[in-house]
Formats: sequence, C-alpha cells, structure tokens
Amino acid sequence: MVDEWLVRSAQKYNRQSLENKDSYPAIILMPVSSLEIILNWTFESLPDEILIGMDPNPEIKNPREVEDLYRGEDYQNDLFAGQGYVLGEPHLVNRGDAFSVHHVPEEWNDGLFVEERGVRGSRFTTWLHTHPNAPALPSIADADAAQWTEGCDMILGVRFSPEGIFPWFDDIEGARRKLSPEEVDEKITGSKPYIGTAITGHRIHDLELISFHKRGFGINIVLTDEKGNVFLEK
Ligand SMILES: [Zn+2]
Repeated sequence: MVDEWLVRSAQKYNRQSLENKDSYPAIILMPVSSLEIILNWTFESLPDEILIGMDPNPEIKNPREVEDLYRGEDYQNDLFAGQGYVLGEPHLVNRGDAFSVHHVPEEWNDGLFVEERGVRGSRFTTWLHTHPNAPALPSIADADAAQWTEGCDMILGVRFSPEGIFPWFDDIEGARRKLSPEEVDEKITGSKPYIGTAITGHRIHDLELISFHKRGFGINIVLTDEKGNVFLEK
C-alpha cells in the first residue's frame, strides 16, 4: 500500500506529464510502488547519493490507453531499450559518500558512479541516481555516463535539512519536474514545510524526478500501478 502523500504527488506529477506531453518524444512507465522503494532507500541513505538499476518487465506492455493518452506530437518509436514496457523492480546498486560526490561546489559532480554505470552498462537497461540537495537535472558527468545506458537515465532530486555543508543548489537551467504534494509546493517559499522526516532525522522538503535520453532530450515519466495503469486525480 503506497503512502497517501505519494499517491497525491504521483497524480499531480502525471497531470503535469500530460500537460507537457508534446515536449517529450517518448514516455517511460514506472510503478509508484517501485518509486516508493527507491524513496525509502534514498531517505535511509541521506545525505549520501544512491544508484539504482532497473529493467523493463517483459511481461507488462504499456497499456494502449496510456500510450494514446500520453503520446505527444513528436512521438518516436525505438528510442531506447525497453521502450513500451513498464519498468520492473528496482535494485540498489551502490551508495556514495555525499562528501566525495559534492566536493566541487559549482558542479556537484556525481562522477562517482560514472565508471560503475559504464562497467555495468549491460547489467541494467535503466539507471536512477539521486541528487542530494541538488535539482534533478543532469550534470556533465551524468550526460557522459548516459552514453553507456541502453534504456533511460533517471534522476531523483531531494531537498532536505539540515543541509550540512552543501546548501540546496538550484542556480541551473533546465526543465524541472516536482514530485511533491501540491500543498508543499505552495508553501515551499514560506516556512519551509516538509513532506516528512527520514529515518536519518533529515526533513524532506522537496523532491524532483526526471528521465533523460543519452541523446540529450527528456523522456516523460508516467507513474502507474504495477500493471501500467496511470495514477490520475478522480
Ligand atoms: Zn547526477
């Protein structure tokens, strides 16, 4: 049973995916139950970064109605391995020390896992890594690492406090995709509302989630149940 705040966040996220569908040439369907597992690993690991591998579930094709609903005007087939199938279960591959990841302030360089993703490029088709206290936008190192990816790359940005020595960094260009309940978005500039408190004691203020293709464009994420049925507001 997925937490209620995450269901609401997923519904809002999916509505924005729908509104922006013409900005993306493809979609990738991810079960909210997988996202919840990933979020729990993320929160347990703070302030560290984690790397997760996933493969498409060959048993579950994207439902036709979801494909039709989210198909944008520039839709393309055969962009990445596993396109057209719902993502399967996540695997926690590595955890990195945020201090080594973040020691260059202007480029929170997450090159830590670049080599790993290269070496394991054939092990999983799709990779997700977290950006502790940085937006979900690919760095130069991420773009390089993605060249080994057969499927999609995903980034989960987590804003939390106490921040430690690395404050939230968001002076950056790119399309941001929030994954937070509406009420948290609305109040985020005010008294720093938070979604919840991680087991590490960190307060989680904000989440972002994107997917991108090695050729440099975004892939539209749609959050679904395990069969690929989309979570939308009633
Ligand atoms: Zn990164």
